[in-house]
Amino acid sequence: MTPDGWIDLRSDTVTQPSEAMRAAMAAASVGDDVYGDDPSVNRLQDMAAGLFGFEAALFAPSGTQTNLIALMNHCGRGDEYLVGQEAHTYKYEGGGAAVLGSIQPQPIANQPDGSIALDDIAAYIKPDDMHFARTRALALENTIGGRVLGGAYLSAATALAHERGLATHLDGARVCNAAVKLGIGLREAVAGFDSVSVCLSKGLGAPVGSVLLGSRAFVEKGKRWRKMLGGGMRQAGILAAAGLYALEHNIARLADDHANAAALARGLAQVAQLKVATPQTNIFYIEVPPAACAALRDVLARERIRATVGQHTRLVTHLDISAADVEKVVAVFTAFFQDWRHSA
Ligand SMILES: *Cc1c(COP(=O)(O)O)cnc(C)c1O
Repeated sequence: MTPDGWIDLRSDTVTQPSEAMRAAMAAASVGDDVYGDDPSVNRLQDMAAGLFGFEAALFAPSGTQTNLIALMNHCGRGDEYLVGQEAHTYKYEGGGAAVLGSIQPQPIANQPDGSIALDDIAAYIKPDDMHFARTRALALENTIGGRVLGGAYLSAATALAHERGLATHLDGARVCNAAVKLGIGLREAVAGFDSVSVCLSKGLGAPVGSVLLGSRAFVEKGKRWRKMLGGGMRQAGILAAAGLYALEHNIARLADDHANAAALARGLAQVAQLKVATPQTNIFYIEVPPAACAALRDVLARERIRATVGQHTRLVTHLDISAADVEKVVAVFTAFFQDWRHSA
């Protein structure tokens, strides 16, 4: 639970910086990062580039911004990128690529496993014709809705994109969860991508920030967009220190979040009125009878459990959710639905 005693299952963005992370932030040496002077930002960028096997990295305030910078690097005005209907870079970033980048998204249906079918990718690449936007990039997301895209799919999709002259971007907000789940290294998890955005503020537990990975030239070009978008920060080393702490301490432990999600799903699956998906990582969905939602919301609030309850309820585990918290949540759901069945 969080220090205020709540069990918050809405997202892994809700994690509080630990005492040790706060201490690292307080002790960080800093400089003006717009001048490139901040030693902690530089150390974070170098470390992230090394971990993921890229030439360079760029620290930015959010994953929305690192994704937008990447798209603006890969695509110019009147170009388009191929992207999943369910993808963050299409659906949850306020239309930023179109609004701020003059870039047209070409959304494509996601398959049930979260992938975009290779045939669809091939079919949506437009011929060179003045009627069409120029198809310039393929953007994938891993994990997507908690689902892991496997290495065979990713290498086929990125190879297809490259054969057709497209750049490849990975929204790897939770790519560390994917790597831990697959038991592979971070470099292997991002192989085939020209650029990758990684969130430090999700399961890794930092309060703020994402890194964009790419070639040195890509990152240099991205710095201009970051400044233009208002992401040039000054003594940002205070924040980068949290990111460094997260990369050093909080990757392997994502396995605990996956185990807690699995335990939570097992417990909830015992409740007859719920339909529970099997989690692959730290995010999964349950189906709640619509008639039960309002009362369930009240009971959870009384029990100091936060969840975005609806017919399709997303549940997320993270470093502020313990095995004991999982037991409590299962107990509260179980008791609620025992009563609800009787009263219904
Ligand atoms: C959280 C998230 C982002 C970036 O979100 P910010 O809140 O802007 O940092 C990007 N993609 C995915 C899949 C995410 O979950």
